[in-house]
Amino acid sequence: MLSHVGVIAFSYPKGYVTFRQMRWVLENFDIDNCRTYFGENRRAELVCHRNSAIKNVALLMPKHITEFLFMDRDVTPTERSMEIFDADFDFVSCRDQFKENKWATKSAFHNHLWRAKREALLDTPPPWFDMPRSRDGTINLNCECKWFRDKVVTLGMTIGNAGMCHHDSTGLWCGGNEDA
Ligand SMILES: [Zn+2]
Repeated sequence: MLSHVGVIAFSYPKGYVTFRQMRWVLENFDIDNCRTYFGENRRAELVCHRNSAIKNVALLMPKHITEFLFMDRDVTPTERSMEIFDADFDFVSCRDQFKENKWATKSAFHNHLWRAKREALLDTPPPWFDMPRSRDGTINLNCECKWFRDKVVTLGMTIGNAGMCHHDSTGLWCGGNEDA
């Protein structure tokens, strides 16, 4: 059991986590270090909820918690998902079953199931996530994961991917973050 890990189960937007998620969490983490995040502010954008889960849930947890796990509602962990805790990066994303080009690069990162070091989150000035848009504001160019990936790489931190989980959707954009 990893008692230094805080778990934030992202129940947004539907308001629940699954029994399969609960079973996996209780098998691997201390129940006292587990929280759910449900975005009460329904007008806030998804990226605001991502940032709020970090600022208002994760970083407020007791100091002995040195790593965090963030898990989206539509993820089902597998027996290989814990491998993200063996990977030697500041931020590690768990791969999912979408193979196209989503995991094409070593530093590909998406935020459906990911692990972060507390120090690295604190060393990253907020906002952690934002949505890249076209200059005229009509198109989302990528998912918010790429924005985060590019930001922490610029700050000199390490980011990558490991393990495997099942994910119900590809996300807004399923690229391998290759052009940063
Ligand atoms: Zn993504």
